[in-house]
Amino acid sequence: MRLPDGVIVRYRFPWWLRPFLLRGVVGITLGRRIYVEGDDPVRTLRHELVHMQQIARLGLLCFYWRWIREYLGQRFRGASADQAYRRISFEIEAFAAEREETL
Ligand SMILES: [Zn+2]
Repeated sequence: MRLPDGVIVRYRFPWWLRPFLLRGVVGITLGRRIYVEGDDPVRTLRHELVHMQQIARLGLLCFYWRWIREYLGQRFRGASADQAYRRISFEIEAFAAEREETL
């Protein structure tokens, strides 16, 4: 797997980040840094790299604004937290990339 220039990947979350993470989270992107954990960190890395591209495309604020708006829209329509998360367009794109062998 080829990483974009300047991206730093760390296995395991730093101690200071743990209190902010929901249970079951296996990857998170903070700026140019990606933290992964869990059974399949390469798969998680593919997912997080898609989010990094989305953020580069839209800008951080626009990305999170639309992510939250889509999530809440799903919740208001009766989706469970997990269903709402998986129906966010950014997540659909990232989950699809998890299964690809190349980036
Ligand atoms: Zn995601």
